[in-house]
Amino acid sequence: MYDIIIIGAGPAGLTAAIYARRASKTVLVLEALSYGGQIINTPDIENYPAAMHISGYDFATKVYEQAQELGAEFVFEKAVGIKDNGDTKEVITDDNTYTAKAVIIATGSENRKLGVENEDKLVGRGISYCATCDGAFYRGKKVAVVGGGNTALEDALYLADLAETVYLIHRRDAFRGDEATVNALKERDNVKFIYNSNVTKLIAEKRLTAIEVTDKNTQEVTTIELNGLFVAVGRIPENQNFAQLIKLDDSGYVSAGEDCITNVPGIYAAGDNRTKSVRQLVTAAADGAVAATEAVRFVQEH
Ligand code: NAP
Repeated sequence: MYDIIIIGAGPAGLTAAIYARRASKTVLVLEALSYGGQIINTPDIENYPAAMHISGYDFATKVYEQAQELGAEFVFEKAVGIKDNGDTKEVITDDNTYTAKAVIIATGSENRKLGVENEDKLVGRGISYCATCDGAFYRGKKVAVVGGGNTALEDALYLADLAETVYLIHRRDAFRGDEATVNALKERDNVKFIYNSNVTKLIAEKRLTAIEVTDKNTQEVTTIELNGLFVAVGRIPENQNFAQLIKLDDSGYVSAGEDCITNVPGIYAAGDNRTKSVRQLVTAAADGAVAATEAVRFVQEH
């Protein structure tokens, strides 16, 4: 029996572990893949206070080691459900069942797909969801990035240093991501902006060789020959396994406010998987602190 089980070892879950351990609670962190969450794919973090430049991997490693040093236990198993017994909760993984007085769900989100035919088949053969993981394969080649958020912008900037040409394809004419990154991209000669357009066809032999892009206003279809397509069109919250117990909003995010409190007493949501307006590293970490503080209070009162 643990005091607190934290599901997910991204920035929110790891920060929750630090706070819960500093409050002397026993803590188990369950993680399906590896620690770090999506920040691990960010080449250079510039907007976290006091960290002028740090890679996502280095950042995540530091926070992971900090949580370990403070005494959090880690088990790498995927949580597939939670059972609420009132003062205790069971967290079910693929292999085991773990019990705690409180649970923090910090599962983050997964890549949203473009939804174009053959997308799944071409993953690893020209289609990627992670520029920092796969960008080096496209040194000197032609690539495109789809999306208009910070991930797409940062991916395009990263790839501009490697690739011969980077097409940045966005379905609107205004970007959702930071203006500073847009301006940095505009200074690059090898970045070509394609606005108001969707990728409507993937053309491949063994690998992706070209894409068709359709202009939303004119319906004109353009074929672009390229070697790689980086899809950065947002993420989907990973809450499906808890949907029977935890109230989600229409988009699948846990309905929880800034206090991270869910509809079930003793269960909290922290980070990108809950309803919130700003999904950033700093707000994920803040959620971890808030959720852990609430969970500690629940454990002490029950
Ligand atoms: P996002 O901000 O949700 O942006 C997704 C983009 O994809 C939007 O521009 C959206 O277009 C477009 N899109 C969605 N579905 C599409 C589809 N089916 N076809 C074509 N385009 C589609 O996602 P994100 O860029 O992954 O960022 C997620 C969060 O992480 C954001 O809050 C972001 O600020 C944050 N983030 C922060 C950092 C950092 O702090 N350094 C780095 C990366 C990400 P519309 O604009 O038209 O909706």
